[in-house]
Order: sequence, then C-alpha cells, then structure tokens
Amino acid sequence: MSIAPDVITRPELGISVVIPVYNEEGNIDRLYQELTAALEDIGRDFEVVAINDGSSDRTYDMLNDLQAKDARWHIIHFRRNFGQTAAMAAGFDAARGEVIITIDADLQNDPRDIQRILDKFAEGYDIVSGWRQDRKEPLFLRRIPSMIANRLISRATGIRLHDYGCTLKAYHFDVAKGVQLYGELHRFIPALASQMGVRVAEIPVKDRARKWGSSKYGFSRTFKVILDLIAVIFLLSYFNRPLYVFGAAGILVGAVGSLLGLYLTVFKLLTENKIGDRPLLQLSVLLMVLGVQFVSTGIVADMIMRTYHESQHKAIYFIRERRRAPATRDDELEPVS
Ligand code: UDP
Ligand code: MG
Repeated sequence: MSIAPDVITRPELGISVVIPVYNEEGNIDRLYQELTAALEDIGRDFEVVAINDGSSDRTYDMLNDLQAKDARWHIIHFRRNFGQTAAMAAGFDAARGEVIITIDADLQNDPRDIQRILDKFAEGYDIVSGWRQDRKEPLFLRRIPSMIANRLISRATGIRLHDYGCTLKAYHFDVAKGVQLYGELHRFIPALASQMGVRVAEIPVKDRARKWGSSKYGFSRTFKVILDLIAVIFLLSYFNRPLYVFGAAGILVGAVGSLLGLYLTVFKLLTENKIGDRPLLQLSVLLMVLGVQFVSTGIVADMIMRTYHESQHKAIYFIRERRRAPATRDDELEPVS
C-alpha cells in the first residue's frame, strides 16, 4: 500500500516553502522558529511542506509534533530515503502556493533571505535563485568543483547562474509543477525550465555553516553532477526532435562516405586500377554504414520522444498567461453534441 501523490493543479495560497529533510533532528526546532518568524513578518498566507526523506533519527516524530501544533505545516514521510530531488518533487506536487520556495533544513540558508527573494520575484521573474557569495564550505572539495560545474551548466544551457547548487530558490507555481525531476536533477531546475522560456534572476544570499549534523553528500556527488549535466544538455538540445541532431550527423557522415565511394568507383573505371586493397574503401564503407545508423537511431529516438509526449499528454509549448472574455451564458448552455 502506498499513498498516491496529491498533485495540486492550481495555486490556492500565497507562499509554499518546500523543505527536504533527512536526519536533521538537531536542526528542526531552530528551523521552525527561524522560518516561522521570517514568514510571519512577510505577512502573506503561507504553508510549509516538509518532506521527511526516510530519516532514521527523531525527525519523524519531531515533524509530526510540529504539524500537530501548527496547521500551516504539511508533512510528507517517505517510506525510505529517495534523495533530495525526489523529496523536492514530492514537495512541488503537494505545494499550493503561487510562489514555491525551496530551502535546506540544515539552516545553511537564512530564512530571512526569503523576503528579499520574494521582492525580486515580484519584479516579474519566474525563478529567483540564491547566490551564496561567501561560502562557508571547504575550498577544494566543494567550492572549486561547484564553481566549475556552475560555469559548465551556465554555458551549456544559456541560463547564467553563479550558484546552481543553492537550494534557496523561488519558483513560479507553473514552473515548479512543470519540471520533471529524476536522478539528482533538482539543481538543474533553472536550466530545465529554460525550455519553458522562464525569466530567471539571481540575488546574493547568506551562507551559514551547518549548525548541527554533517552534509549528506561526499565528493562522489561531483561525478553525478557531471553525468546529470550531460543528460541535461542532451535533453535541452535534442528534446523535441532527436532526429534533427542524429539525422544531421548521419547525412553528413553518409555523404562523405558516398563521395569517397564515388571517387573510388570512378577511379577504378577510368584507370582500371584495383581498389580492393585501399584503406579509403574501408573508410568509405564505414562512413556509409555509420550514416545509416545515425539516421535510424534518430528515428528511434524520435519515436521514443513521441511516445513520451503523447502518453503523458505533454504539450510541446508552455503558456505564460491566457486572456479571453469570460464565457457567456449562451456558451454555457450550448448543448454538447
Ligand atoms: N537531504 C534529503 N535527502 C537526502 C540528502 C539530503 O532530503 O538524501 C536534505 C537535507 O536534509 C538538507 C538538504 O537536503 O535539508 C541538503 O542536504 P545537505 O545539507 O546534506 O547538502 P549540502 O548542503 O552539503 O549540499
Ligand atoms: Mg547543507
């Protein structure tokens, strides 16, 4: 037995704060105090969606206690540890706020920065990302790999951010609901959302040292991030029509192979030399076969994308807003044929 995710399709209140929580018993009380104070000062209606990502410490009981005393808290307990990305995806599914804010449970982000993020958001952005300018983490193991990753992701996706890894970000309801997350893709949301044509801004936020407990990640995360980056680049550039990419490569390679073959044929016919022992012949055959393979891979990939879009009723476009006159009474009464 499992509980189906409750996916909200229309915003019902002002702000949702989504927090992935994994073995953070020492941080929860303080998080509650700081967050509640910061959100109450903002003065809009809000909810907090905390996702317990299969914690084995007292996180389970502590979150339940919070929920019992504060109805604005919504708790989702995972059956096991599914990872931060899955936790955030569950939070996005359940969130009801017009603006959805993600923040770490370990208080490395300062809840007081939410106000500033929201101010920027109000200028008309779809994503506002925190940028930890003065990071408290080790230089070689964390900051340098992260700097390289940010540069690569920015360059590859065209969405230039200094700090993809900062959890403190705000998303428009539609953006948070529209991105499909898996693997460790949460840090790439602004890049994935670039497909939707989002407006992204970045503002400096505070970075604090972890107050309790230790990071859940080690150096191995770097490799995952690199692999995710490759997947994201692929998704972004070839998503709708993989055939265009594979097909272009196939035509190019196949054409070179055919030209070489043609040259060899003419050469043989005109000069009556043997061509059977020429490496060029092998190259020509290789290129032609490769060309056919590229094109057929493209067709298969295209069919997979088609199934993907059609099976999930995914639109190939994203709408910012829609305006039209409200339905008249006559329209409503029109008989359905
Ligand atoms: N987290 C999670 N599931 C995991 C790992 C981490 O929900 O499998 C949460 C964790 O509790 C924290 C946030 O994700 O709220 C960021 O994790 P962490 O502080 O370990 O990452 P770092 O700040 O070192 O990048
Ligand atoms: Mg942390």
